Amino acid sequence: MATETTTMKELIGIYQPGSQHMVGDGFPVRNLFPSNDLDREVSPFLMLDYAGPQYFEPTDHPRGVGEHPHRGFETVTIVYEGVVAHRDSAGNAGVIGPGDVQWMTAASGIVHEEFHEKEYARKGGTLHAIQLWVNLPRASKMSAPGYQTILNADIPSIDLDSGAGRLRVIAGSFLGHKGPAHTFTPVELYDLQLKAGRRVALALPEGHNTSIFILQGRASVNGSEEAGEAELIVCKREGSQVTVEAQENSRLLVMAGKPIDEPIARYGPFVMNTKAELVEAVNDYQAGKMGHLRNQ
Ligand code: MN
Repeated sequence: MATETTTMKELIGIYQPGSQHMVGDGFPVRNLFPSNDLDREVSPFLMLDYAGPQYFEPTDHPRGVGEHPHRGFETVTIVYEGVVAHRDSAGNAGVIGPGDVQWMTAASGIVHEEFHEKEYARKGGTLHAIQLWVNLPRASKMSAPGYQTILNADIPSIDLDSGAGRLRVIAGSFLGHKGPAHTFTPVELYDLQLKAGRRVALALPEGHNTSIFILQGRASVNGSEEAGEAELIVCKREGSQVTVEAQENSRLLVMAGKPIDEPIARYGPFVMNTKAELVEAVNDYQAGKMGHLRNQ
């Protein structure tokens, strides 16, 4: 008898969006967490907002969300359709379109704005994106802010065996292909397209929390019941493999990572370890210590 060397990560459950709201006037989002009370199960990820797909009429006044702060974590924006522009108080700015990813490290604190890009807004079009918040360990929460523009062309795209689909490695590695994102703690982030009736086995480290969000199609994990559009499949951290099977042509976001098992204290755009640190964050922001956006 063959010895089993890999163990499947068992399912915790399948979750639907727990809330729905507008971020500014440009990002109609459905939230998967924290609205589903999954802090421990999805750590190091803190938040998943699924924006669109929604069509926006042409306008000369780009929609979005104006100047606001962040401290204590990273915001990761993945664009599928549409074009998003960002600029922040650390002097970083960027425009990302379909296939691109923006990895913004707020850490000790930034002030930024996120808008539909001017030309895209002027023409009108569909917006389809995800914003993920990735926690920082206590030791890195007050590090210097950073910014990574990760273009489609920088992201390795791997054809799966016998035409089953395609996997883009944003962070971590897959079959020796390394993703371009620099992360503070070990993270695997894959954009996965899988054809109807096909499957892929993903080796994900023992101890890494793992969840899979379905943007389009229907899929199951380890032979579970099927999940559909805008649903999140969450697996246990124990085990070292998940097998994803698509019942329809599907697009999925695979999120895995080493959990940061430290206390989480949240207040709006700030995520720290204690209440006292949240008070300090509010005071520092109000005192202008997170900087300001320069007028254009
Ligand atoms: Mn923001």
